[in-house]
Amino acid sequence: MRDIDVLVVGAGFAGMYAVHRLASDGLSVRAVEAGSDVGGTWYWNRYPGARCDVESLEYSYAFDDDLQQEWSWTERYAAQPEILSYASHVADRFALRDHIDFDTRVVSVVHANGRWVVTTRAVTDRSVHGDALGDDVTVWNARFVVMATGCLSSANVPDLPGIADFEAAGGTVLHTGRWPHDGIDLAGRHVAVVGTGSSGVQAVPLVAEAAEHLTVFQRTATYAAPAFNAPLDPDVEASVKARYGEFRAMLQKRATAFGASYPRAHPSALTVSAQERNEILEDRWMLGGFAVSAAFADLLSDPEANDLVAEFVRSKIRAVVDDPATAELLCPTQTFACKRMCVDSGYFEAFNRNDVDLVSVADNPITRLADRGIVLADGSLHEVDTIVFATGYDAMTGSLARIDIRGRDGRRLVDEWAAGPRTLLGIAVPGFPNLFTVTGPGSPSVLANMITAIEQHVEWIADCIGWLDAHDHVEIEASESAADEWVGHVNDLAASTLYPTCNSWYLGANVPGKPRVFMPVLGWPAYVRRCNDVAAAEYTGFAVT
Ligand code: FAD
Repeated sequence: MRDIDVLVVGAGFAGMYAVHRLASDGLSVRAVEAGSDVGGTWYWNRYPGARCDVESLEYSYAFDDDLQQEWSWTERYAAQPEILSYASHVADRFALRDHIDFDTRVVSVVHANGRWVVTTRAVTDRSVHGDALGDDVTVWNARFVVMATGCLSSANVPDLPGIADFEAAGGTVLHTGRWPHDGIDLAGRHVAVVGTGSSGVQAVPLVAEAAEHLTVFQRTATYAAPAFNAPLDPDVEASVKARYGEFRAMLQKRATAFGASYPRAHPSALTVSAQERNEILEDRWMLGGFAVSAAFADLLSDPEANDLVAEFVRSKIRAVVDDPATAELLCPTQTFACKRMCVDSGYFEAFNRNDVDLVSVADNPITRLADRGIVLADGSLHEVDTIVFATGYDAMTGSLARIDIRGRDGRRLVDEWAAGPRTLLGIAVPGFPNLFTVTGPGSPSVLANMITAIEQHVEWIADCIGWLDAHDHVEIEASESAADEWVGHVNDLAASTLYPTCNSWYLGANVPGKPRVFMPVLGWPAYVRRCNDVAAAEYTGFAVT
């Protein structure tokens, strides 16, 4: 058993920064990462078209001014390989790999005698269905554990009957988040893309170009706006870098559109004339990305305002897609932006190709795989030799639930969260002292620019550990009542909006059997103020011993 101050689980942007900050604070730190290198999301998601939909100058660390000045992005929206290079550059620059065990999975985290006993096993093989683990175990004895396991890191591969038969008959099964690292040649293949969320929308145009034929299986049509991606304008880069601190501070005040730097929202879609509304929406549309979702302050609270924006987006889809029946199928009907809006580069245009078909599985779901393809409820067979599941993740709780985490008195995290995650600030869980979750459920996480959210959490956690040590405290634990109050607050905020009106992964609705609970908290600036207030008041809501 090896003693350590802090054991960090995961080496994506959260784990990397946690290692850097905590080691800089003089603590002994070890991170354990299932992948073979740093980068997390950007290490795993190597599917064609994988790209950030927050602009490069915003989706990057702010904690080190030299780092943000010296790194140059090539595009307005960085593609996966460039973000992975950035992660690697950060790891080199701060010598982070010295602190990380790669190809190793944390299998259990158990509280015993006031410490955390963390057991890891080596990853011996990987496939779309998960990791194979070796028998050798390493056991760590840590005072603190930082779960930097990621909100979107547990691939949701549908458990369909017949998958093994399809593979045995020579078919290939892929998931966007477990993409083969040596790539895959799709030339000559008949490919299915299942799922039309962010990953599917990004992958479809490039899979269509590469494959012989593509069939897209859609359960819910998606709202997507064009990225208008382009090489990063050197003048824009220079002007941001000349005032990077001020630019980041301005982003901290944004509560909508993932904290992006779009112009502030107009107060209401209903108090402007139809012509004015259309002009505003056109302007936003031409800005690209999520800008349209930040057009009006009431579009996620007033159904009428939402309908007007939704209809505007549908009109854009109809204008692109040639075949009216296909266009109608691609037009979403759910509340606009209550599922994560997508940012596309040629998604709707792909359906104008002769070698791309769209199949709705809304009322005729996929029931199984056969040797030669996908079978729907009505018995129809769609012949394909390669299936790309763009079916997303067991979001926010999945990677935590896959670890056997036992707190005080043997309380199991999965049992504690059976009715939905219960945290204080998305950082701490009652019954699990000295264990922190970075961007955990109950924090803004996936509704924010996630690197910003990660930095805020890591700094709060590191400051908290520093405060405990400075005051000779041993342990900190969220109180039951404060966690109940916080969960109620998260639910109340969500209930005051249109977010709960559709089946999104924010609500866990993409995973069969998962409780329907809105997991992220709304409102970035108010959340940050709350975290700061809690720390300034010497950790109200926490028991300190
Ligand atoms: P991750 O990057 O997910 O890293 C977690 C790491 O923990 C993983 O490497 C995983 O292998 C490891 N891990 C998990 N469990 C264990 C275990 N038991 N043992 C060992 N290791 C473990 N966010 C944005 O803000 N803007 C975007 O545009 C954006 N685009 C995205 C596009 C895609 C396709 C995806 C999947 C996500 C996107 N995100 C985006 C969210 C993205 O996940 C975050 O921005 C960020 O990369 C998360 O960093 P992280 O370190 O918290 O988690």
